[in-house]
Amino acid sequence: MIKETAKQIEDRFSEIGFNIPTSEIESRLEKLLNEFKVPAEEARRSVVNYFLKEYNIPRGDFYTQQGNTPTVKVKDINADGKWINIKAKVAQLWDNNHESIGQVGLIGDESGTIKFTKWASAELPGLEEGKSYNFKNVVTNSYQERFQINLNKSSQIEEIEEDIEIGTEMIEFIGAMVGIQAGSGLIKRCPQCNRALIKGVCGEHGKVEGTYDLRIKAVLDNGHNVQDTLLNREVSERLTNITLEEAVHMATEALEQSVVVDKMKEQLVGRYYSVTGPRLDRYILIETISPLPPLERSQIEALLSSMEV
Ligand SMILES: [Zn+2]
Repeated sequence: MIKETAKQIEDRFSEIGFNIPTSEIESRLEKLLNEFKVPAEEARRSVVNYFLKEYNIPRGDFYTQQGNTPTVKVKDINADGKWINIKAKVAQLWDNNHESIGQVGLIGDESGTIKFTKWASAELPGLEEGKSYNFKNVVTNSYQERFQINLNKSSQIEEIEEDIEIGTEMIEFIGAMVGIQAGSGLIKRCPQCNRALIKGVCGEHGKVEGTYDLRIKAVLDNGHNVQDTLLNREVSERLTNITLEEAVHMATEALEQSVVVDKMKEQLVGRYYSVTGPRLDRYILIETISPLPPLERSQIEALLSSMEV
């Protein structure tokens, strides 16, 4: 009985790309069943859970799908551990240093974008940026309250002719700007790949002569959620009334690039804004941003009384 159950568990783990020695599974089962007198089904579940944790495997990857796999849109992904099919375009491939991960990045359809992880053990074909695919039997997973999909050994990928348009669902957010993150203000970008340089160095191309750009990575807080946002040069210029040219001038005068971001912080942090823009992973790419007037005393009192505090 133990041997049979252990074999079933081992087989399922091996199907999704993890080789766990039978002896390890057996000894755990045996302990639970014989020493602790745990019921058989519970023992099986407990052993499976142990190895899922140990190898950091999402639950949905282990438990097979029931019945027909639904084909869904990105915006409909709202549960953990569901098997789905999805037709989407690869929006971005990200750098990846994990040997257990084959590829990682963003895919999208007309309803939005979502992060994907393709396990190395899945042995699936390589995805290319800008190409559209049918992703079959992929599993949803949530990580830090955001959904993503995982491609494992049970998944299939088919390239399709159709060029899927990635939709940009507009989001509105109202909150106080509570911070401006590092890498904001006057920055330099790699002329080859456009990445922001860190101390004059591009992650891909090393030390390069960068070109100047302006951007703001702002954190907004509405009292319930903290939202990361990105303002490109154009939006930053409009909001701060500091043009790129002026920013370069300010930095040259002060012999210090950070004067620009300091000035921006002084101007923006602590104020309320209403912003709109499409979501890209954890950011809202801000297209419009308008300052809101500070709350009047009467509004504050109305709010307080409505909350009955
Ligand atoms: Zn570069």
